[in-house]
Amino acid sequence: MAEMYYDDDADLSVIQGRKVAVIGYGSQGHAHALNLRDSGVDVRVGLAEGSRSRAKAEAEGLTVTTVAEAVAQADLVVVLVPDQVQRGLYAAEIEPNLKEGAALLFGHGFNIRFGYIEPPAGSDVLMVAPKGPGHIVRREFVDGRGVPVLLAVEQDPSGSAWDLAKSYARAIGGLRAGGIRTTFTEETETDLFGEQAVLCGGASQLVMYGFETLVEAGYQPEVAYFECLHELKLIVDLMIEGGIAKQRWSVSDTAEYGDYVSGPRVIDPHVKENMAAVLADIKNGAFAKRFIEDQDAGAPEFTAMREKGAQHPIEQTGKQLRGLMAWIDTEQDSDYVEGS
Ligand code: NAD
Ligand code: MG
Ligand code: MG
Ligand code: MG
Ligand code: MG
Repeated sequence: MAEMYYDDDADLSVIQGRKVAVIGYGSQGHAHALNLRDSGVDVRVGLAEGSRSRAKAEAEGLTVTTVAEAVAQADLVVVLVPDQVQRGLYAAEIEPNLKEGAALLFGHGFNIRFGYIEPPAGSDVLMVAPKGPGHIVRREFVDGRGVPVLLAVEQDPSGSAWDLAKSYARAIGGLRAGGIRTTFTEETETDLFGEQAVLCGGASQLVMYGFETLVEAGYQPEVAYFECLHELKLIVDLMIEGGIAKQRWSVSDTAEYGDYVSGPRVIDPHVKENMAAVLADIKNGAFAKRFIEDQDAGAPEFTAMREKGAQHPIEQTGKQLRGLMAWIDTEQDSDYVEGS
C-alpha cells in the first residue's frame, strides 16, 4: 500500500515560516499562489515584465515582481511555468538569484527527471504535484476540499525536505484529499504515460475513431458526437465513483455484454504493445528530447499538430451542438476560448 499523508500528518507552520516565490501564474501557478495566501503563507508571484498574467495576479491583491526579484527574496521557489520554459528560465533568472540553501519545488518532475535542471547541492528539491487541472485545485480549495497530490523529494540536504513538502501540500489543500509519497522518476514517467496513452492521447484518438467510423458509415455527425464524445463524461464519472465495475453495473446488460465482447476487439493486445513502446520512449528520454527540441525550434511540429487537430470534423459538430445545449456551462471559471 502506498504511503499516504493527510492534514494531520503535516505542520502548516513550516510553510507559514517561509518566504515563498511562485514563478508563473497560469493553471497551477494561480491556484498555488492563491491557496498559499489563503493558508496564511507569505507569498509573492514572479512574472516577466510584459506578462499578461500580471494584471490577474495583481487584481487578486498578490505582490508581483520580476522572476529575479521574487527568487532573490525567497526561501522556497515554486517553479510553475510550462515545462518547456523551465530550463531556460532557471538558467537565466532562477539559478543566478537563488539564495544559498533556498529550496526548489516543482509541480511535475519533467526537468529534474530528464536532467534539464540541475539544482545546487545545497538546495532541497521537492515536488507537490496535484493530480488535477489548476482551476480545479483552486475551486476545490475554495469549496473546503482539495485535489489529491503526489509528493516527492529529490534532494534533502536540510534533512527536513519532507516536512516542507507535506506542509506545502497541506497549504494548497492537497492533504484534505490525500497525498501519496512517490519519487520524481515515478511521477514523471507515470504522468507522461497516463496523459499520452490513456487520458489525452488514447481517449482523444478513441473518440475520433469512433466518430469517424459512424460518420463514414453514413450516420449523422450529431448523433455520432453524442454517442462517442458527449456520453463519455457520464461513463467516466461512474468509473471515478466506483471503478469500472460501477460503470458496468449502471449501464444496461446489453451495454455491459457489448463491453466484454467488443472492448478487447477494439483495444486489442497490439494496443498494449504500443503502450509499452510509448512507455519505453518516455523512460529513455526520446519523448522529452523530441518535445524540447521542437519547442526550442519555435514549436513547428507542435503548432502543426495543434492546427490539424482543430480541423477535425468532430470539432465543428461539437461547437454547433454545445451552442444548443444550455445546460453545459462552457464559461465556467476558465480562460479557455473555444477554437483558440
Ligand atoms: P501554464 O501554461 O498554465 O502557465 C504558464 C505560466 O507561466 C503563465 O503565468 C505565464 O505567464 C508563465 N510563463 C510562461 N513563460 C514564461 C517565461 N518565459 N517567464 C516567466 N513566466 C513565464 O502552466 P501549467 O499548465 O500550470 O504548468 C506549470 C507546471 O505545472 C508544469 O510543470 C506542469 O507540468 C505542471 N502541472 C500542470 C497541471 C495543469 O493543471 N495544467 C497539472 C499538474 C502539473
Ligand atoms: Mg495547455
Ligand atoms: Mg502532465
Ligand atoms: Mg447508448
Ligand atoms: Mg448493468
